[in-house]
Amino acid sequence: MVESQPDTELLQQLRELLGETGLRIQPDDVIPDVVLRPQTTEQVSAILRLCSAAGQAVVPLGGKTGLANGHIQTRGEFGLSLERMSAIEEIDASNRTMTVQAGCILQVAVEAATEQDLLLPLDFGARGSATLGGIAATNAGGNRVIRYGMAREVILGLEVVLADGTVISSLNKMLKNNTGYDIKQWFIGAEGTLGVITRLVLRLRPNPRSENTALLAVDSFDALTGLLRWLDARTAGTLSGFEVMWPEFYEYITREGSLHKPPLPHGSAFYVLVETLGSEPESDAERFETVLGQAMEEGLIADAVLAHSQSERNALWEIRDDVLEFFKLGPIIPFDVSVTLDRMEDFVADIRAGMDAVQDAICIVFGHLGDCNLHLILGAKDHGNFDHDALSTLLYETVQRHEGSVSAEHGIGITKREQLCRSRSEAELQLMMAMKKMLDPKNILNPNKIFAAETLAAG
Ligand code: ZN
Repeated sequence: MVESQPDTELLQQLRELLGETGLRIQPDDVIPDVVLRPQTTEQVSAILRLCSAAGQAVVPLGGKTGLANGHIQTRGEFGLSLERMSAIEEIDASNRTMTVQAGCILQVAVEAATEQDLLLPLDFGARGSATLGGIAATNAGGNRVIRYGMAREVILGLEVVLADGTVISSLNKMLKNNTGYDIKQWFIGAEGTLGVITRLVLRLRPNPRSENTALLAVDSFDALTGLLRWLDARTAGTLSGFEVMWPEFYEYITREGSLHKPPLPHGSAFYVLVETLGSEPESDAERFETVLGQAMEEGLIADAVLAHSQSERNALWEIRDDVLEFFKLGPIIPFDVSVTLDRMEDFVADIRAGMDAVQDAICIVFGHLGDCNLHLILGAKDHGNFDHDALSTLLYETVQRHEGSVSAEHGIGITKREQLCRSRSEAELQLMMAMKKMLDPKNILNPNKIFAAETLAAG
């Protein structure tokens, strides 16, 4: 870890480049906390050229909403915030694209698209503070991945600044473009370790005209996966949400005295929030009801409640989104992992069996089942029974045993660095490290994220 006084000559050069407002320095008793705030790609390029020459580590900063600590700035490292590069440069309605600067907040971009009657389909809880640069750097997922894919599928082009200051402008607008390596994909999900994303071209979709939402109770895991296939096959590609809550989730969020009334009674094995986005309000609603009715006849659904208004829709989503409520239970750790559907039931059973050893265990499971993505909240109601390392080990060993992914949508950052080898082969890790060394030979870009500096040096 870097822990030394910043180079005063470098700071002076950066001050001249960015001006007083472009540099935020929080004096500290030992080492000041420096955040650089460029306004243009040229300034980002000049910053990286200077920092590269000085061997100064730089941590790109977005909305800092990631859960893997990919944005953590160790003392002595400079933050590089793109907050002053937040413009929406263009909405191209004929090509259905949007060009934005990396500091643009997701919600601002979504609203701008809606004004043009278009849809930017990225959506998740941190929409009000997450930036599009950060979303690209972490390949964020969220609630509509089943329909529109993760950030990777929404990004058509990128502009990136490399560690040595080289600007790679790859602002492609075309869906098909097979001209050699797809350079943008190297940087999407790389968590700022290979380059700093400065601008993006996003793919927009037609704004949906209809939205149908229901909460369903399901009796078994087999019925759950059967229901997913059933709905996917009969809703003509419009299925946009299949959010599953295990009973501990649903029953706690809708417990007596909580803000949320239970739309369905407690006691079922699973609760699923399903949503379709379509183009024909009347016939879509009819079709949605018919398909759910048929699924009920098939025994795939035990009980159902349909939303008939926007406020009813919101009330159903609020149950699924109220994850912060679990922090009231006691010390907990939230996990974000993937396992394939055929392994998922056994995976959860194995975690539960492991939790039997923990007194007053908390084990909450929910997730984006259509994406194989589970979120687990593990803990113990009593602080004395909470063992962070033991719970992490239990979780990640079980993921590895079921050949899953230690990170589904939140990246590796610092938090999951030691777990990476559970989901990636030695050959994959070596290739990743070779790319890192090629693009950032001095390891100045977000060092110690994904790979520890010692691991890179030894690899
Ligand atoms: Zn999620």
